[in-house]
This record gives sequence, C-alpha cells and structure tokens, in this order.
Amino acid sequence: MAVNINPRRTPLIAGNWKMNLDHLQAIAFVQKLAWNLKDANHDFAAVEVAVFPPFTDLRSVQTLVSADKLPLAFGAQDMSARDSGAYTGEISGAFLAQLECQYVIIGHSERRTLHNESDEQVAAKVTAAVKHNLVPLICVGESAEDLATHGPSAVPVAQLRAALAGVTNAADIVVAYEPVWAIGSGQAATPDQAEQVAAALRGVLTETLGQDVADKTRILYGGSVKSGNIAAFMREPNVDGALVGGASLDIVEFSGIIRYHKHVGL
Ligand code: PEP
Repeated sequence: MAVNINPRRTPLIAGNWKMNLDHLQAIAFVQKLAWNLKDANHDFAAVEVAVFPPFTDLRSVQTLVSADKLPLAFGAQDMSARDSGAYTGEISGAFLAQLECQYVIIGHSERRTLHNESDEQVAAKVTAAVKHNLVPLICVGESAEDLATHGPSAVPVAQLRAALAGVTNAADIVVAYEPVWAIGSGQAATPDQAEQVAAALRGVLTETLGQDVADKTRILYGGSVKSGNIAAFMREPNVDGALVGGASLDIVEFSGIIRYHKHVGL
C-alpha cells in the first residue's frame, strides 16, 4: 500500500509534552532535537514538526527557535476563550500569538476529563484561537465506554461538530483523533480503526466547512504512537500525521516517528 502523500496536506508530527520539562530542559531538548534532525537531513518541508511545551517554556522556546532559525513550529497546550480580564490563571490567545505560537491544542482529553471542559467551552476556545490567528489543534476521541456503547466514530464526530460551531470556512485548523483508551496506555488503535474515524471526521469537515477545507485539513492520529507503529498509520489515506505524548519526550524515539518514511523503507 502506498504511503499517504496528499500534496494539499503536509504531514504533521506534533509532540505534546504535557506537564514535563521546565524552561531550561526545554531549551536543551529543542536544541538537541533540531540537531538530531538536521544531522539526519530531515526535510522539514516534507514532514512538519511541532512541539507543545508547558506555558512557562514558551518564551524560551520562541527565543531559541527565532535566534537559531530552527525549522520547528511550536504551540501551547491550551488557552482561554477570553481575550483579557479577571480570569486568574488563564492565558489569552493574544499572548500566545505575541509569542509567535503557531498552534494551540484545544480539547485534549485530559482537559475534558480532569478539568471538565465541555464541548461548548472547547468551541469557544477554538473560535478564540482562530480570531488570534492561531491554528487550533482540536482533539476529539471516545472513551472505552463510548467505544463499547456507541462504536468508534459517534463521539469523535459529535465532538468535532460541536467544536466547529463558531468556525468559518476560511479557518486553518488541525484535527487530532485520540481515542482516550489509547492515550498513555501502550495500546494504540489499529491503523484501520484510525482510518475509519479519520474518514468520518473528514466527512464532518466536508459537511460543515466544505470540500476545499476538508481536503486541505490535516487529521492526526494520537494514542501510544511510537517509532515502531507510526508508518502503518501514515499509510492510511485520511491520517496526515500524529499527536504524540510520551514518546515525544524521548529525542531518539520522537525523531524516529518524525522520520517514519526512512526507517521503514517507505
Ligand atoms: C496525548 O496525550 O496526546 C498522547 C497521544 O499521549 P501518548 O502518545 O502518550 O499516548
């Protein structure tokens, strides 16, 4: 089977660091990652790479990326739906844009479950991200219970529909399908399962934002992605990259995921 090469969708490998690496560790990590990929002649135009450090690291990462002209994108792991005001502890999309963040993760399952984020809050954050010229990386995915009760696509499809409530067809967005049961469990979905849901999600994009946006929007798979299983996901026609948690904290492993087409001879 041929690897997924859609000229309209540059594959994206995104590393969600979660609450790991302080700003000093972030500087060392990003430097090493960039050197490692440069040494391996990684073509950043062929496979885009983005990291999502904690908020407190963003200024350091921005300074390093800008000073050394590193071909890495970066973004935040969450943002407020509000622009400014009395919202203690919140971070505005305007601040992230000022830090040259390109992306922001919205609706990660850990925010939905541990912080009770509703579909409405996710939608408000997505709208705010677009307003601040940030590309929202919208996470959707079903729990093990959802899977048993509703099958794989129903919940992610409903979550994406809700998240797009305030989005117009001019918006640049990325969608990540992350089955909750696969995150951090070591048990990834099968490439077939990921493709089935990614195709359903692309159907939602077509319905809500039109064919053009659906054709150019990247849909990532996330959940226990490793260098050993990424290639099979990337062979699927509707999977355009990966959102990687644990393995994004290991430079060799993350580089192996980014260079998926080399180490498996695709
Ligand atoms: C995630 O949390 O977005 C994720 C995909 O984690 P992991 O790769 O560790 O399963």
